[in-house]
Amino acid sequence: MENQGRRRCRKLVLVPCPFQGHINPMLQLGTILHSRGFSITIAHAQFNSPQTSNHPDFVFLSLPDGTSSKPAMPHDFLPFMSKLNFNCKDPFQEILSLMIEKQEQDDQLPCIIFEIFMSFAQEVASHLKLPNIIFHTNSVATLLTFLAYARLKAEGYTPPQDSTSTELVPGLHPLRFKDLPVTNFAHLDGMWRVIAMLSNIGSSSAIIWNTMDCLEQSVLAQYQRQCQVPNFSIGPMHKIASAPSSSLLEEDSSCISWLDKQGHNSVIYASFGSIASVDAKELTEMAWGLANSQQTFLWVLRPDPAKGSEPSDCLPDDFKETVGERGCIVKWAPQQLVLAHSSVGGFLSHCGWNSTLESISEGVPMICKPAFGDQLINTRYISHEWGNGFELENDLGRGEIERAIKMLMVEKEGQEMRQRAAELKEKTQVSIKSGSGHPSYECSEILQLSYVVTVWMSLTLCN
Ligand code: UDP
Repeated sequence: MENQGRRRCRKLVLVPCPFQGHINPMLQLGTILHSRGFSITIAHAQFNSPQTSNHPDFVFLSLPDGTSSKPAMPHDFLPFMSKLNFNCKDPFQEILSLMIEKQEQDDQLPCIIFEIFMSFAQEVASHLKLPNIIFHTNSVATLLTFLAYARLKAEGYTPPQDSTSTELVPGLHPLRFKDLPVTNFAHLDGMWRVIAMLSNIGSSSAIIWNTMDCLEQSVLAQYQRQCQVPNFSIGPMHKIASAPSSSLLEEDSSCISWLDKQGHNSVIYASFGSIASVDAKELTEMAWGLANSQQTFLWVLRPDPAKGSEPSDCLPDDFKETVGERGCIVKWAPQQLVLAHSSVGGFLSHCGWNSTLESISEGVPMICKPAFGDQLINTRYISHEWGNGFELENDLGRGEIERAIKMLMVEKEGQEMRQRAAELKEKTQVSIKSGSGHPSYECSEILQLSYVVTVWMSLTLCN
């Protein structure tokens, strides 16, 4: 009786994986769920700590992770994540145990939402008998690709070692062997650990995806058939919640006023995310490809502290002079604003999943230049399923880059991709049910998710 008048605090503890492309969607998910009345605690690694001051509605808890330096991606990703998972487990368990101790009798226990790579969070949640939910920040197609490796191995498909095979992968339409994140099956040792992590649903009651039915309906249905728990696709999260910036690097907003001065759809935006790096030769070829295309461009050249020098210092001497006002170079851009700007007419991208969703949401066609991992899969979907872009093979010279940019920005093929991108944007808008120009939180999948989380939490009271 006493508790009936008191509004129960529905507490969610979110555990992001500490990389930019993973922190962004987790904090966006936090904003969405906060708007549905949940209180949000972010339990994060010390490495790449989020900017807490940007999120006054959230409580932040820092977990000592024992990592001393940034991993050299993608090679060091696995050992780095293993160490981080090992080191964060005990502090996380202590924090949650304290949280539970402080709850009043009949209070609901917190529910844990963790990114799939933060498996320690699930172990702790299971140990403390807390409801928990998996969050995937990559596409469903990426998960299905990793899950298919065991079958492919068992069926005796041994892809060529040169990783350039254009043969289609059986059962993984439209992927070719060259689109697989690991094409050489002989070197899968570490990958099996990733696959084990990705396929482990364990004690989790549901799975949340930052994706859209209009993009991934068939793979979502395929995964749901083989998965015992409900899946909620509630992307693109950045359009559903107007979350504050979660950039780890300072955004240079001067490029927005520069964009304001450019014509409609006239600018090609070039950016390769937070991890992929370009070597000196690629940088030079890219620079001249952009310059010789005669198109206006905005280029993000992210500094790499490990290399010590600024990439823009390595640009050819006469490059800046040649392009003059036609080019704008920044170290880090407010990307979502850039892609939403009417002057941006194309995106030369590495095709990380967030960049892909952000480009699709704004109807910007893409030139795909993937480096590794899921970027290869996203690229294949963009170029062969959704049709809103095409692939630029790696190691190409300035001539090919110049031609690719011209094709997207001024030629008929580019026009068709722009049309396709506009259609996808339209479908995205329908799927997030934006009302009167303002994003609405009433997407049915979010309502269902909030409802089921509330029910699970009410079933796990302190006693
Ligand atoms: N991003 C940004 N400014 C930049 C470049 C990237 O804010 O100059 C953001 C981008 O909007 C996206 C994220 O960084 O949300 C990159 O994630 P993605 O999955 O595309 O690639 P990753 O960095 O994980 O390779």
